[in-house]
Amino acid sequence: MAQVTHGTGTRVADHGGGVHSIRVPIPDNPLGHTLVHLLDTDRGPVLIDTGWDDPASWDTLVAGLTALGTAVSDIHGVVITHHHPDHHGLSGQVREASGAWIAMHEADTAIVRRTRESEPGTWLDYLVRKLAAVGAPDDHLAPLRAARGGGRLRTLPGLRAALPDREIVPGELLDLAGRKLRAVRTPGHTPGHVCLHLEERHPAGLVGNGRLFSGDHLLPEISPHIGLYEDPDDTAVTDPLGDYLASLERIGRLGVAEVLPAHQHAFTDAGGRARELLDHHKERLSGLLALLATPLTPWQLAERMEWNRPWEQIPHGSRSIAVSEAESHLRRLVKLGRAEAVPGGPPVTYIAV
Ligand SMILES: [Zn+2]
Ligand SMILES: [Zn+2]
Repeated sequence: MAQVTHGTGTRVADHGGGVHSIRVPIPDNPLGHTLVHLLDTDRGPVLIDTGWDDPASWDTLVAGLTALGTAVSDIHGVVITHHHPDHHGLSGQVREASGAWIAMHEADTAIVRRTRESEPGTWLDYLVRKLAAVGAPDDHLAPLRAARGGGRLRTLPGLRAALPDREIVPGELLDLAGRKLRAVRTPGHTPGHVCLHLEERHPAGLVGNGRLFSGDHLLPEISPHIGLYEDPDDTAVTDPLGDYLASLERIGRLGVAEVLPAHQHAFTDAGGRARELLDHHKERLSGLLALLATPLTPWQLAERMEWNRPWEQIPHGSRSIAVSEAESHLRRLVKLGRAEAVPGGPPVTYIAV
């Protein structure tokens, strides 16, 4: 893989066989950047993900396309792995500049539509209610209640995200002239996450079944967040961790030669990485069962779980995400018959059985 740094600081890479990537920065985020991939087709270049909606990110994307000998106005289509703002943020601007179509799985398009249509205040009320029900203390809820009355709500990411105009149908080949790119359903990180399997021989002759654009589903050194994306009007109890683990097995079985993820760097041995993550979650679930020897609310469980830093140092917004991750794990344990909700509450408490 040739990695070129241009004068502007733009970093583009040639992965061979008509596939390039551009490192598009994510402002104020430890992840650093999104790897936006460019796939040549007979009808023009297609982007896989676009990057965060921020002027510096946009400039980097535009400069990257120029460095690759194309222009944003040439983009023919945009394929989005999932609705998160570091992947879908710039899609609207790309469409405006080029007339490109935007494709996404319907489950994530539904989230984009819901976010665009809902009043930020309504969403915040829902969040406060939900956090209170899982045992969040008042000092966590107070800033959210204050924001409800303040003027900061318009800055919530996703409120002006573009509505996709094409659906990605799992199992089917995307309509790309001269390329064989198949969508693989990989829910878990988000309900509509897809990986894109490039069913073509590896350009450098690596042994395996083509290449995989893995989005956030399979990353070389990060275990992706498994959260809850719930429709406040839908009472169905989802099991995103169960979905994620099944998606990992599905991807492991593909036997791809190389993975092109949306963060960090390209890697081989997708099967080995999938097994590592499956083992990691297995260990984590048994660790949680030990903690649930006494009844705990999801919040109390999140406080006791292992994160990348001590709980006291985890900022407010990340604590809300952590507790939704704790809840995803609890739902898996309940579904496996290893834990159950204790009658009473709210807040709800769970215990190992
Ligand atoms: Zn994501
Ligand atoms: Zn991401």
